[in-house]
Amino acid sequence: VSARLLDGRALATTLRADLTTRVGRLERGAHPPILAILTDGAHAAATLYAASLERAARSIGVETRVIREADVVALERAAAELNAEARVAGIVVGQPFGDPAAGRRLVEHVDVSKDVDGAHPESAGRLARGEPAFVPATALAVIAVLEAHLVRVAGVRAVVVGRSAVVGRPVASLLLARDATVVICHRATRNLAEETRRADLLVAAAGVPLLVRGDMVRPGATVVDCGINAAEGGIVGDVAFSEVEPIAAAITPVPGGIGPVTPMMVLRQLVEAAERS
Ligand code: NDP
Repeated sequence: VSARLLDGRALATTLRADLTTRVGRLERGAHPPILAILTDGAHAAATLYAASLERAARSIGVETRVIREADVVALERAAAELNAEARVAGIVVGQPFGDPAAGRRLVEHVDVSKDVDGAHPESAGRLARGEPAFVPATALAVIAVLEAHLVRVAGVRAVVVGRSAVVGRPVASLLLARDATVVICHRATRNLAEETRRADLLVAAAGVPLLVRGDMVRPGATVVDCGINAAEGGIVGDVAFSEVEPIAAAITPVPGGIGPVTPMMVLRQLVEAAERS
């Protein structure tokens, strides 16, 4: 037997079509939204994220404004201007920054009503409280892929490997809000394999190539791999796909799983924000 493939590319195509229609409607109503991206250009990962957001935005007819500036104070000023500009419906800060603390401070200059990648502490607080909030896009992508493939979440035992503010924690909050019983693992977890083997739904967001091996997965589990790790010959996930795929009931591939859906989640939140205003 082999696992059902939880394909993200087809879902991204469906989402793109829906968002394109909604952007068209906003344009006819003379409210075409702009997505602004702020980056210090220090890290390749942030530059790649900005580029993928720009490409995705263009694909649904959304204009982008990328502000690349090494000086964080200048970026803070830019954020204040973008907050005041009605057509700018969303502002994304491309993390990580050269100085991570400066990156976190910059996020706090973004108006919460334009925080379409759910990076602001107030958005995170609302999410943690189970209130409506903008959510980090990768976490939303996990839920979107599960929903698109009708994977049951309510009542299941979900194990999330990773507790970062961008992936692990928000995924755990979203699963909890959907009535999963959630366990969060990290580097100090005593016996990772013992925890992951109990998962009906396993979400890997550790940033460690091939961390989740075949013997760490319960037969019939659903496995979601958020990992994007550069390796020789391309990108690998946090899950050893060839070992886990014969054991799991369903699994996301890397690439082609969570990755392509993530920028669409930023854009979905942007379009929702524009539709509200
Ligand atoms: P971070 O490095 O910020 O966080 C990693 C988390 O995993 C930490 O909480 C860490 O624990 C935990 N962890 C690391 N090693 C282990 C281990 N051996 N056992 C148990 N837990 C471990 O990474 P991110 O959350 O930013 O990213 C995670 C992955 O998701 C990366 O591969 C990244 O590339 C990918 N990613 C994908 C995106 C997408 O669009 N699909 C977007 C963003 C990220 P501790 O807290 O104890 O240090």
